[in-house]
Amino acid sequence: MTALPLVFEAPRRGKPPRHLADLDHDQRRAAVTELGEPAFRADQLARHYFARLSTDPAVMTDLPAAARTRLVSALLPQLAIPVRHLSCDGGTTRKTLWRAVDGARTESVLMRYPDRATVCISSQAGCGMACPFCATGQGGLTRNLSTAEIVDQVRAAAAAIRDGELAGGPGRLSNVVFMGMGEPLANYPRVVTAIRRITDPAPKGLGLSQRSVTVSTVGLVPAMRQLAAEGLQVTLAVSLHTPDDELRDTLVPVNQRWNVSEVLDAARHYADITGRRVSIEYALIRDINDQQWRAELLGRLLHKRLGARVHVNLIPLNPTPGSAWDASPQAAQERFVALVREAGVTCTVRDTRGREIAAACGQLAAATPPADEPLP
Ligand code: SAH
Repeated sequence: MTALPLVFEAPRRGKPPRHLADLDHDQRRAAVTELGEPAFRADQLARHYFARLSTDPAVMTDLPAAARTRLVSALLPQLAIPVRHLSCDGGTTRKTLWRAVDGARTESVLMRYPDRATVCISSQAGCGMACPFCATGQGGLTRNLSTAEIVDQVRAAAAAIRDGELAGGPGRLSNVVFMGMGEPLANYPRVVTAIRRITDPAPKGLGLSQRSVTVSTVGLVPAMRQLAAEGLQVTLAVSLHTPDDELRDTLVPVNQRWNVSEVLDAARHYADITGRRVSIEYALIRDINDQQWRAELLGRLLHKRLGARVHVNLIPLNPTPGSAWDASPQAAQERFVALVREAGVTCTVRDTRGREIAAACGQLAAATPPADEPLP
């Protein structure tokens, strides 16, 4: 792919420590050997981490006591501290604010539904895409997360739901969405490696199905095309938000680099190569992008370009600090859905979770508490 322009590269802050989840099978064995331990200890560690979801040396009784502490501190260091958990929706939604070793802040959101449990994870601390309706975009980019920092959000969520930390008793994590902080395709190699770790069968990885992983992008066209060639079955979601370049240049500033037509071509290419239906994300904003003509144009464009291989997710705009924008009234939303469907494109309104705890789409800003606040 063409190199991404410099503007997408995260400034280097602290470098997260090396972690088992950064390494593939051979690298893990090499790392363990370097520590003077037999290579098979790498598989034992991987089983604790990926299959038992544990980083606690106390439970690793199959490892000799002396080796245990050494291996865990070298290969399973704590990457982030959960600074705060916030719950809502009757305890079925929980946002966790994480602080990484260098102080970088991220958030992940665990959501339990009757038939599934989904974790929404961050791929970067902050985001450089500057979409004006998104709180993360307003804060700017701090840095890319490492592969392990991404994977560990999923491991922690899987352990939490297994251990009954969410209302409804013990359960199983089934879905992962890269819809937290950051632009996943601007952190491409680490995100793709993380997807492999998340979906490789245990104990090589966490063993989730590729089809239950969704990667959401603002539309970084070269990276979308590269993702299509990875041989993965993950769902691609594209944050389109409007079908016309004039408005999209403002709502999603990267549109000035890759426009609607190029983004839809890349989405079509992804659908063709992977056989997966692409999702289009559309945050509905009162009097900005909710007009009848935009619904008609969206439906027409998508039907022509993607046919049955597309689904539109409307997201009622979530409030963000300092923004004058507002969600569309119910009637406008209903009309929008109907018009898109009339064009032959499936369209649903996303059930938004976590608004009261600023955990909904576009609200992740890792704003509280300040860096020096003592940990609970
Ligand atoms: N950077 C990627 C991943 C973030 S996904 C992307 O933009 O796709 C988060 C989703 O929530 C995106 O579709 C984003 O456009 C949407 N979003 C951002 N701010 C929002 C808000 N205030 N209300 C509703 N959706 C919002």
